[in-house]
Amino acid sequence: MKLPVVQFTEEQHQFRATVRQFLQQQQAQGTYTTKCDSWLSGSNPAFSKRIGEQGWIGITWPKKYGGAECSALDRYILIEEFLAAGAPVAAHWIADRQTGPLLLRYGTEEQKQTFLPEIIKGTCYFAIGLSEPNSGSDLASISTRAEKVAGGWLVNGSKTWTSNAHDAHYMITLVRTEPFDGTAKHKGLSQLIIDLHAEGVTIKPIRYLTGKPHFNEIFFDNVFVPDNRVVGGLGNGWEQGLAELAFERSGPERILSTLPLLQELIKELKAQQNEVALQEVASLVARLWSLRNLSIGVAQVLAQGGEVAVPAALVKSIGTKFEQSIPEIARLLTATFPRLDAERALDRYMAEAILHGPGFTIRGGTTEVLYGIVAKGVVANE
Ligand SMILES: Cc1cc2nc3c(=O)[nH]c(=O)nc-3n(C[C@H](O)[C@H](O)[C@H](O)COP(=O)(O)OP(=O)(O)OC[C@H]3O[C@@H](n4cnc5c(N)ncnc54)[C@H](O)[C@@H]3O)c2cc1C
Repeated sequence: MKLPVVQFTEEQHQFRATVRQFLQQQQAQGTYTTKCDSWLSGSNPAFSKRIGEQGWIGITWPKKYGGAECSALDRYILIEEFLAAGAPVAAHWIADRQTGPLLLRYGTEEQKQTFLPEIIKGTCYFAIGLSEPNSGSDLASISTRAEKVAGGWLVNGSKTWTSNAHDAHYMITLVRTEPFDGTAKHKGLSQLIIDLHAEGVTIKPIRYLTGKPHFNEIFFDNVFVPDNRVVGGLGNGWEQGLAELAFERSGPERILSTLPLLQELIKELKAQQNEVALQEVASLVARLWSLRNLSIGVAQVLAQGGEVAVPAALVKSIGTKFEQSIPEIARLLTATFPRLDAERALDRYMAEAILHGPGFTIRGGTTEVLYGIVAKGVVANE
């Protein structure tokens, strides 16, 4: 695995300071409270709108759609600061991370003009419609189908584990547009933009371990999707989905979901002057630093159009195990009383990290499946 080592410029350090200051101000004004796993579980449309007003959604996208044509590294800095602050960015996260890049690469001009400016404003949210009750890791076995009718497609079937669909306006949905012929199951799949408020769509919440709504089951009963909502080529859904997964797997969100807990732990141990425990934490920080450099390297290669499937799978598998290890190590080093409504930040972050943690190594592809991708990639390169 060869990844570039990236140095940030003086302007980029300055940009980081600006974002950090903005977030500190917002927090001081009570706009949000820091949470672990805020990128997928901290949905706050008012905050997303504020981020949009700052011009901080879709910052790498072309100016003609409202973007700022910044570099992938500028975006990396921005989202790293959101994650470190535990800011509630979940409402617009999927649209910013993968729907926008997907539409820029495969969408029609009309789709770009319609959706990108709204995403950039922080007022238009997307969900990911891949998993189904009988298809998770083996995604190509999906059975939700779209049949051709005059002017569009009729969709029937269901999706599950769909994060934040109850807040989203649309979902990029993987469907079967050609019946499975019993041989090539990756063929005949397409991506549709489904309006989640359309007639025939039913969304049922599945509560998270915290008791809060997060996932959903989504049922489609003869949902009409017009022809102009097909993304990219008909039958090209598998390749397009794989391209999306590269954006999904390598970002800092696969390393930093429990960073607020790590930061609070360090604060606590410093206050206790617990040098022995701090040395333990130092090894965590060293792992974090290495992972961060890998993740930045992948972002750089991705931005240059390079192939990142294997390094992205590695970063995701090592990164999510790292995120999970923080509450494990924290509980050995200091006394905590984890409760979601605790006064003390350490106890609150601990509860969030424990309850959200099990999902880290499942969402976006399980660790075992990622190992399979790495093994196959390594064999293919030999
Ligand atoms: C927090 C969270 C958010 C999610 N959000 C979304 C979302 O927004 N949209 C969406 O579409 N999905 C979402 N998912 C679903 C997620 O993508 C699936 O749960 C995941 O892909 C695994 O699928 P599965 O649950 O069907 O498990 P299965 O595929 O049934 O796997 C069960 C077990 O078998 C193992 N396994 C399966 N195949 C292999 C293999 N070939 N080799 C070795 N081991 C294997 C797996 O590693 C796992 O341990 C989310 C999941 C979580 C936890």
